Amino acid sequence: MGMLVPIAPSAWLLSLVEQQLGSLWGRLAALLFWLKAAFWWPGADRVQRQVRGDTEETQKEAGEKSVLHTTPISINYHFTRQCNYKCGFCFHTAKTSFVLPLEEAKRGLLLLKEAGMEKINFSGGEPFLQDRGEYLGKLVRFCKEELGLPSVSIVSNGSLIRERWFRDYGEYLDILAISCDSFDEHINVLIGRGQGKKNHVENLQKLRAWCRDYRVAFKINSVINRFNVEEDMNEQIKVLNPVRWKVFQCLLIEGENCGEDALREAERFVISDKEFEAFLERHKGVSCMVPESNQKMKDSYLILDEYMRFLNCRDGRKDPSRSILDVGVEEAIKFSGFDEKMFLMRGGKYVWSKANLKLDW
Ligand code: SF4
Repeated sequence: MGMLVPIAPSAWLLSLVEQQLGSLWGRLAALLFWLKAAFWWPGADRVQRQVRGDTEETQKEAGEKSVLHTTPISINYHFTRQCNYKCGFCFHTAKTSFVLPLEEAKRGLLLLKEAGMEKINFSGGEPFLQDRGEYLGKLVRFCKEELGLPSVSIVSNGSLIRERWFRDYGEYLDILAISCDSFDEHINVLIGRGQGKKNHVENLQKLRAWCRDYRVAFKINSVINRFNVEEDMNEQIKVLNPVRWKVFQCLLIEGENCGEDALREAERFVISDKEFEAFLERHKGVSCMVPESNQKMKDSYLILDEYMRFLNCRDGRKDPSRSILDVGVEEAIKFSGFDEKMFLMRGGKYVWSKANLKLDW
């Protein structure tokens, strides 16, 4: 019994402490529950993300980037709309006389290279018109020498090219494409490719020889239209022996060669799909021929205009994006209407560097 006396008050004390602790735990549990609820309410996770510097906007942008990323592998830069010819079906007409200052154009080309560009094609208008070909030559050299692009090419009507240009810039150029729609000078005049006393066909032969001498791959582009659709070009093309003969079906573009504010009325040049196929059938023996129907051309080109804006041709007209110089390539390209699958389907990626071409004509 002697031992029981001190134990009794101890048990009472212990029970009191337990009661107090129980109550404290209850309060702590309530506090924890409240804290958890506070950080789990609908806005609480946003607060947590903001603390990490990770806003809803940046998450949304990241999502868009992963979905909309398009690599501008092959670009067509129409840096001028001015031309010395007046082809009736022209689909890039002289609506402005604007040309970017050379350094700005180089800045844009650098942005494109950083975004994945491998091939640049300079076009117009007539690209040799600006500063007697010097502007073009400097861009060609910049793209090959400083940007190290695998392929640098030009599309030109050929009328303003001098041998001196080849001497100065030929080594930086992979491919020169010359537009030629007919080997009959009378038809060239009807189309609008005539220039006084100069003979377009004789000029073509001279350019072909310079391409051989200065080791530039030679290409021919032809637009098949009402005036040349019956022509047989087999012999002349075989003699000229280009690395590629691009054969386009005449295309209507609202605001350029048809419609209210257009500078041309190309409706009278248009041919049917059947007529185009008959032309291709007549030339099926030409192995370098690369046909492009209206369907194939649709959405399969990345086109930059004189302000370095992508032109979206999806609705049959050219709707411009904002300039890559203002918003960057990734933002501007979202409005280009470009379809990478169509690009690959039309054979857009081919051997385009002269280093990989056999140039032994
Ligand atoms: S040469 Fe080309 S740019 Fe010039 S008018 Fe003819 S199609 Fe248009």
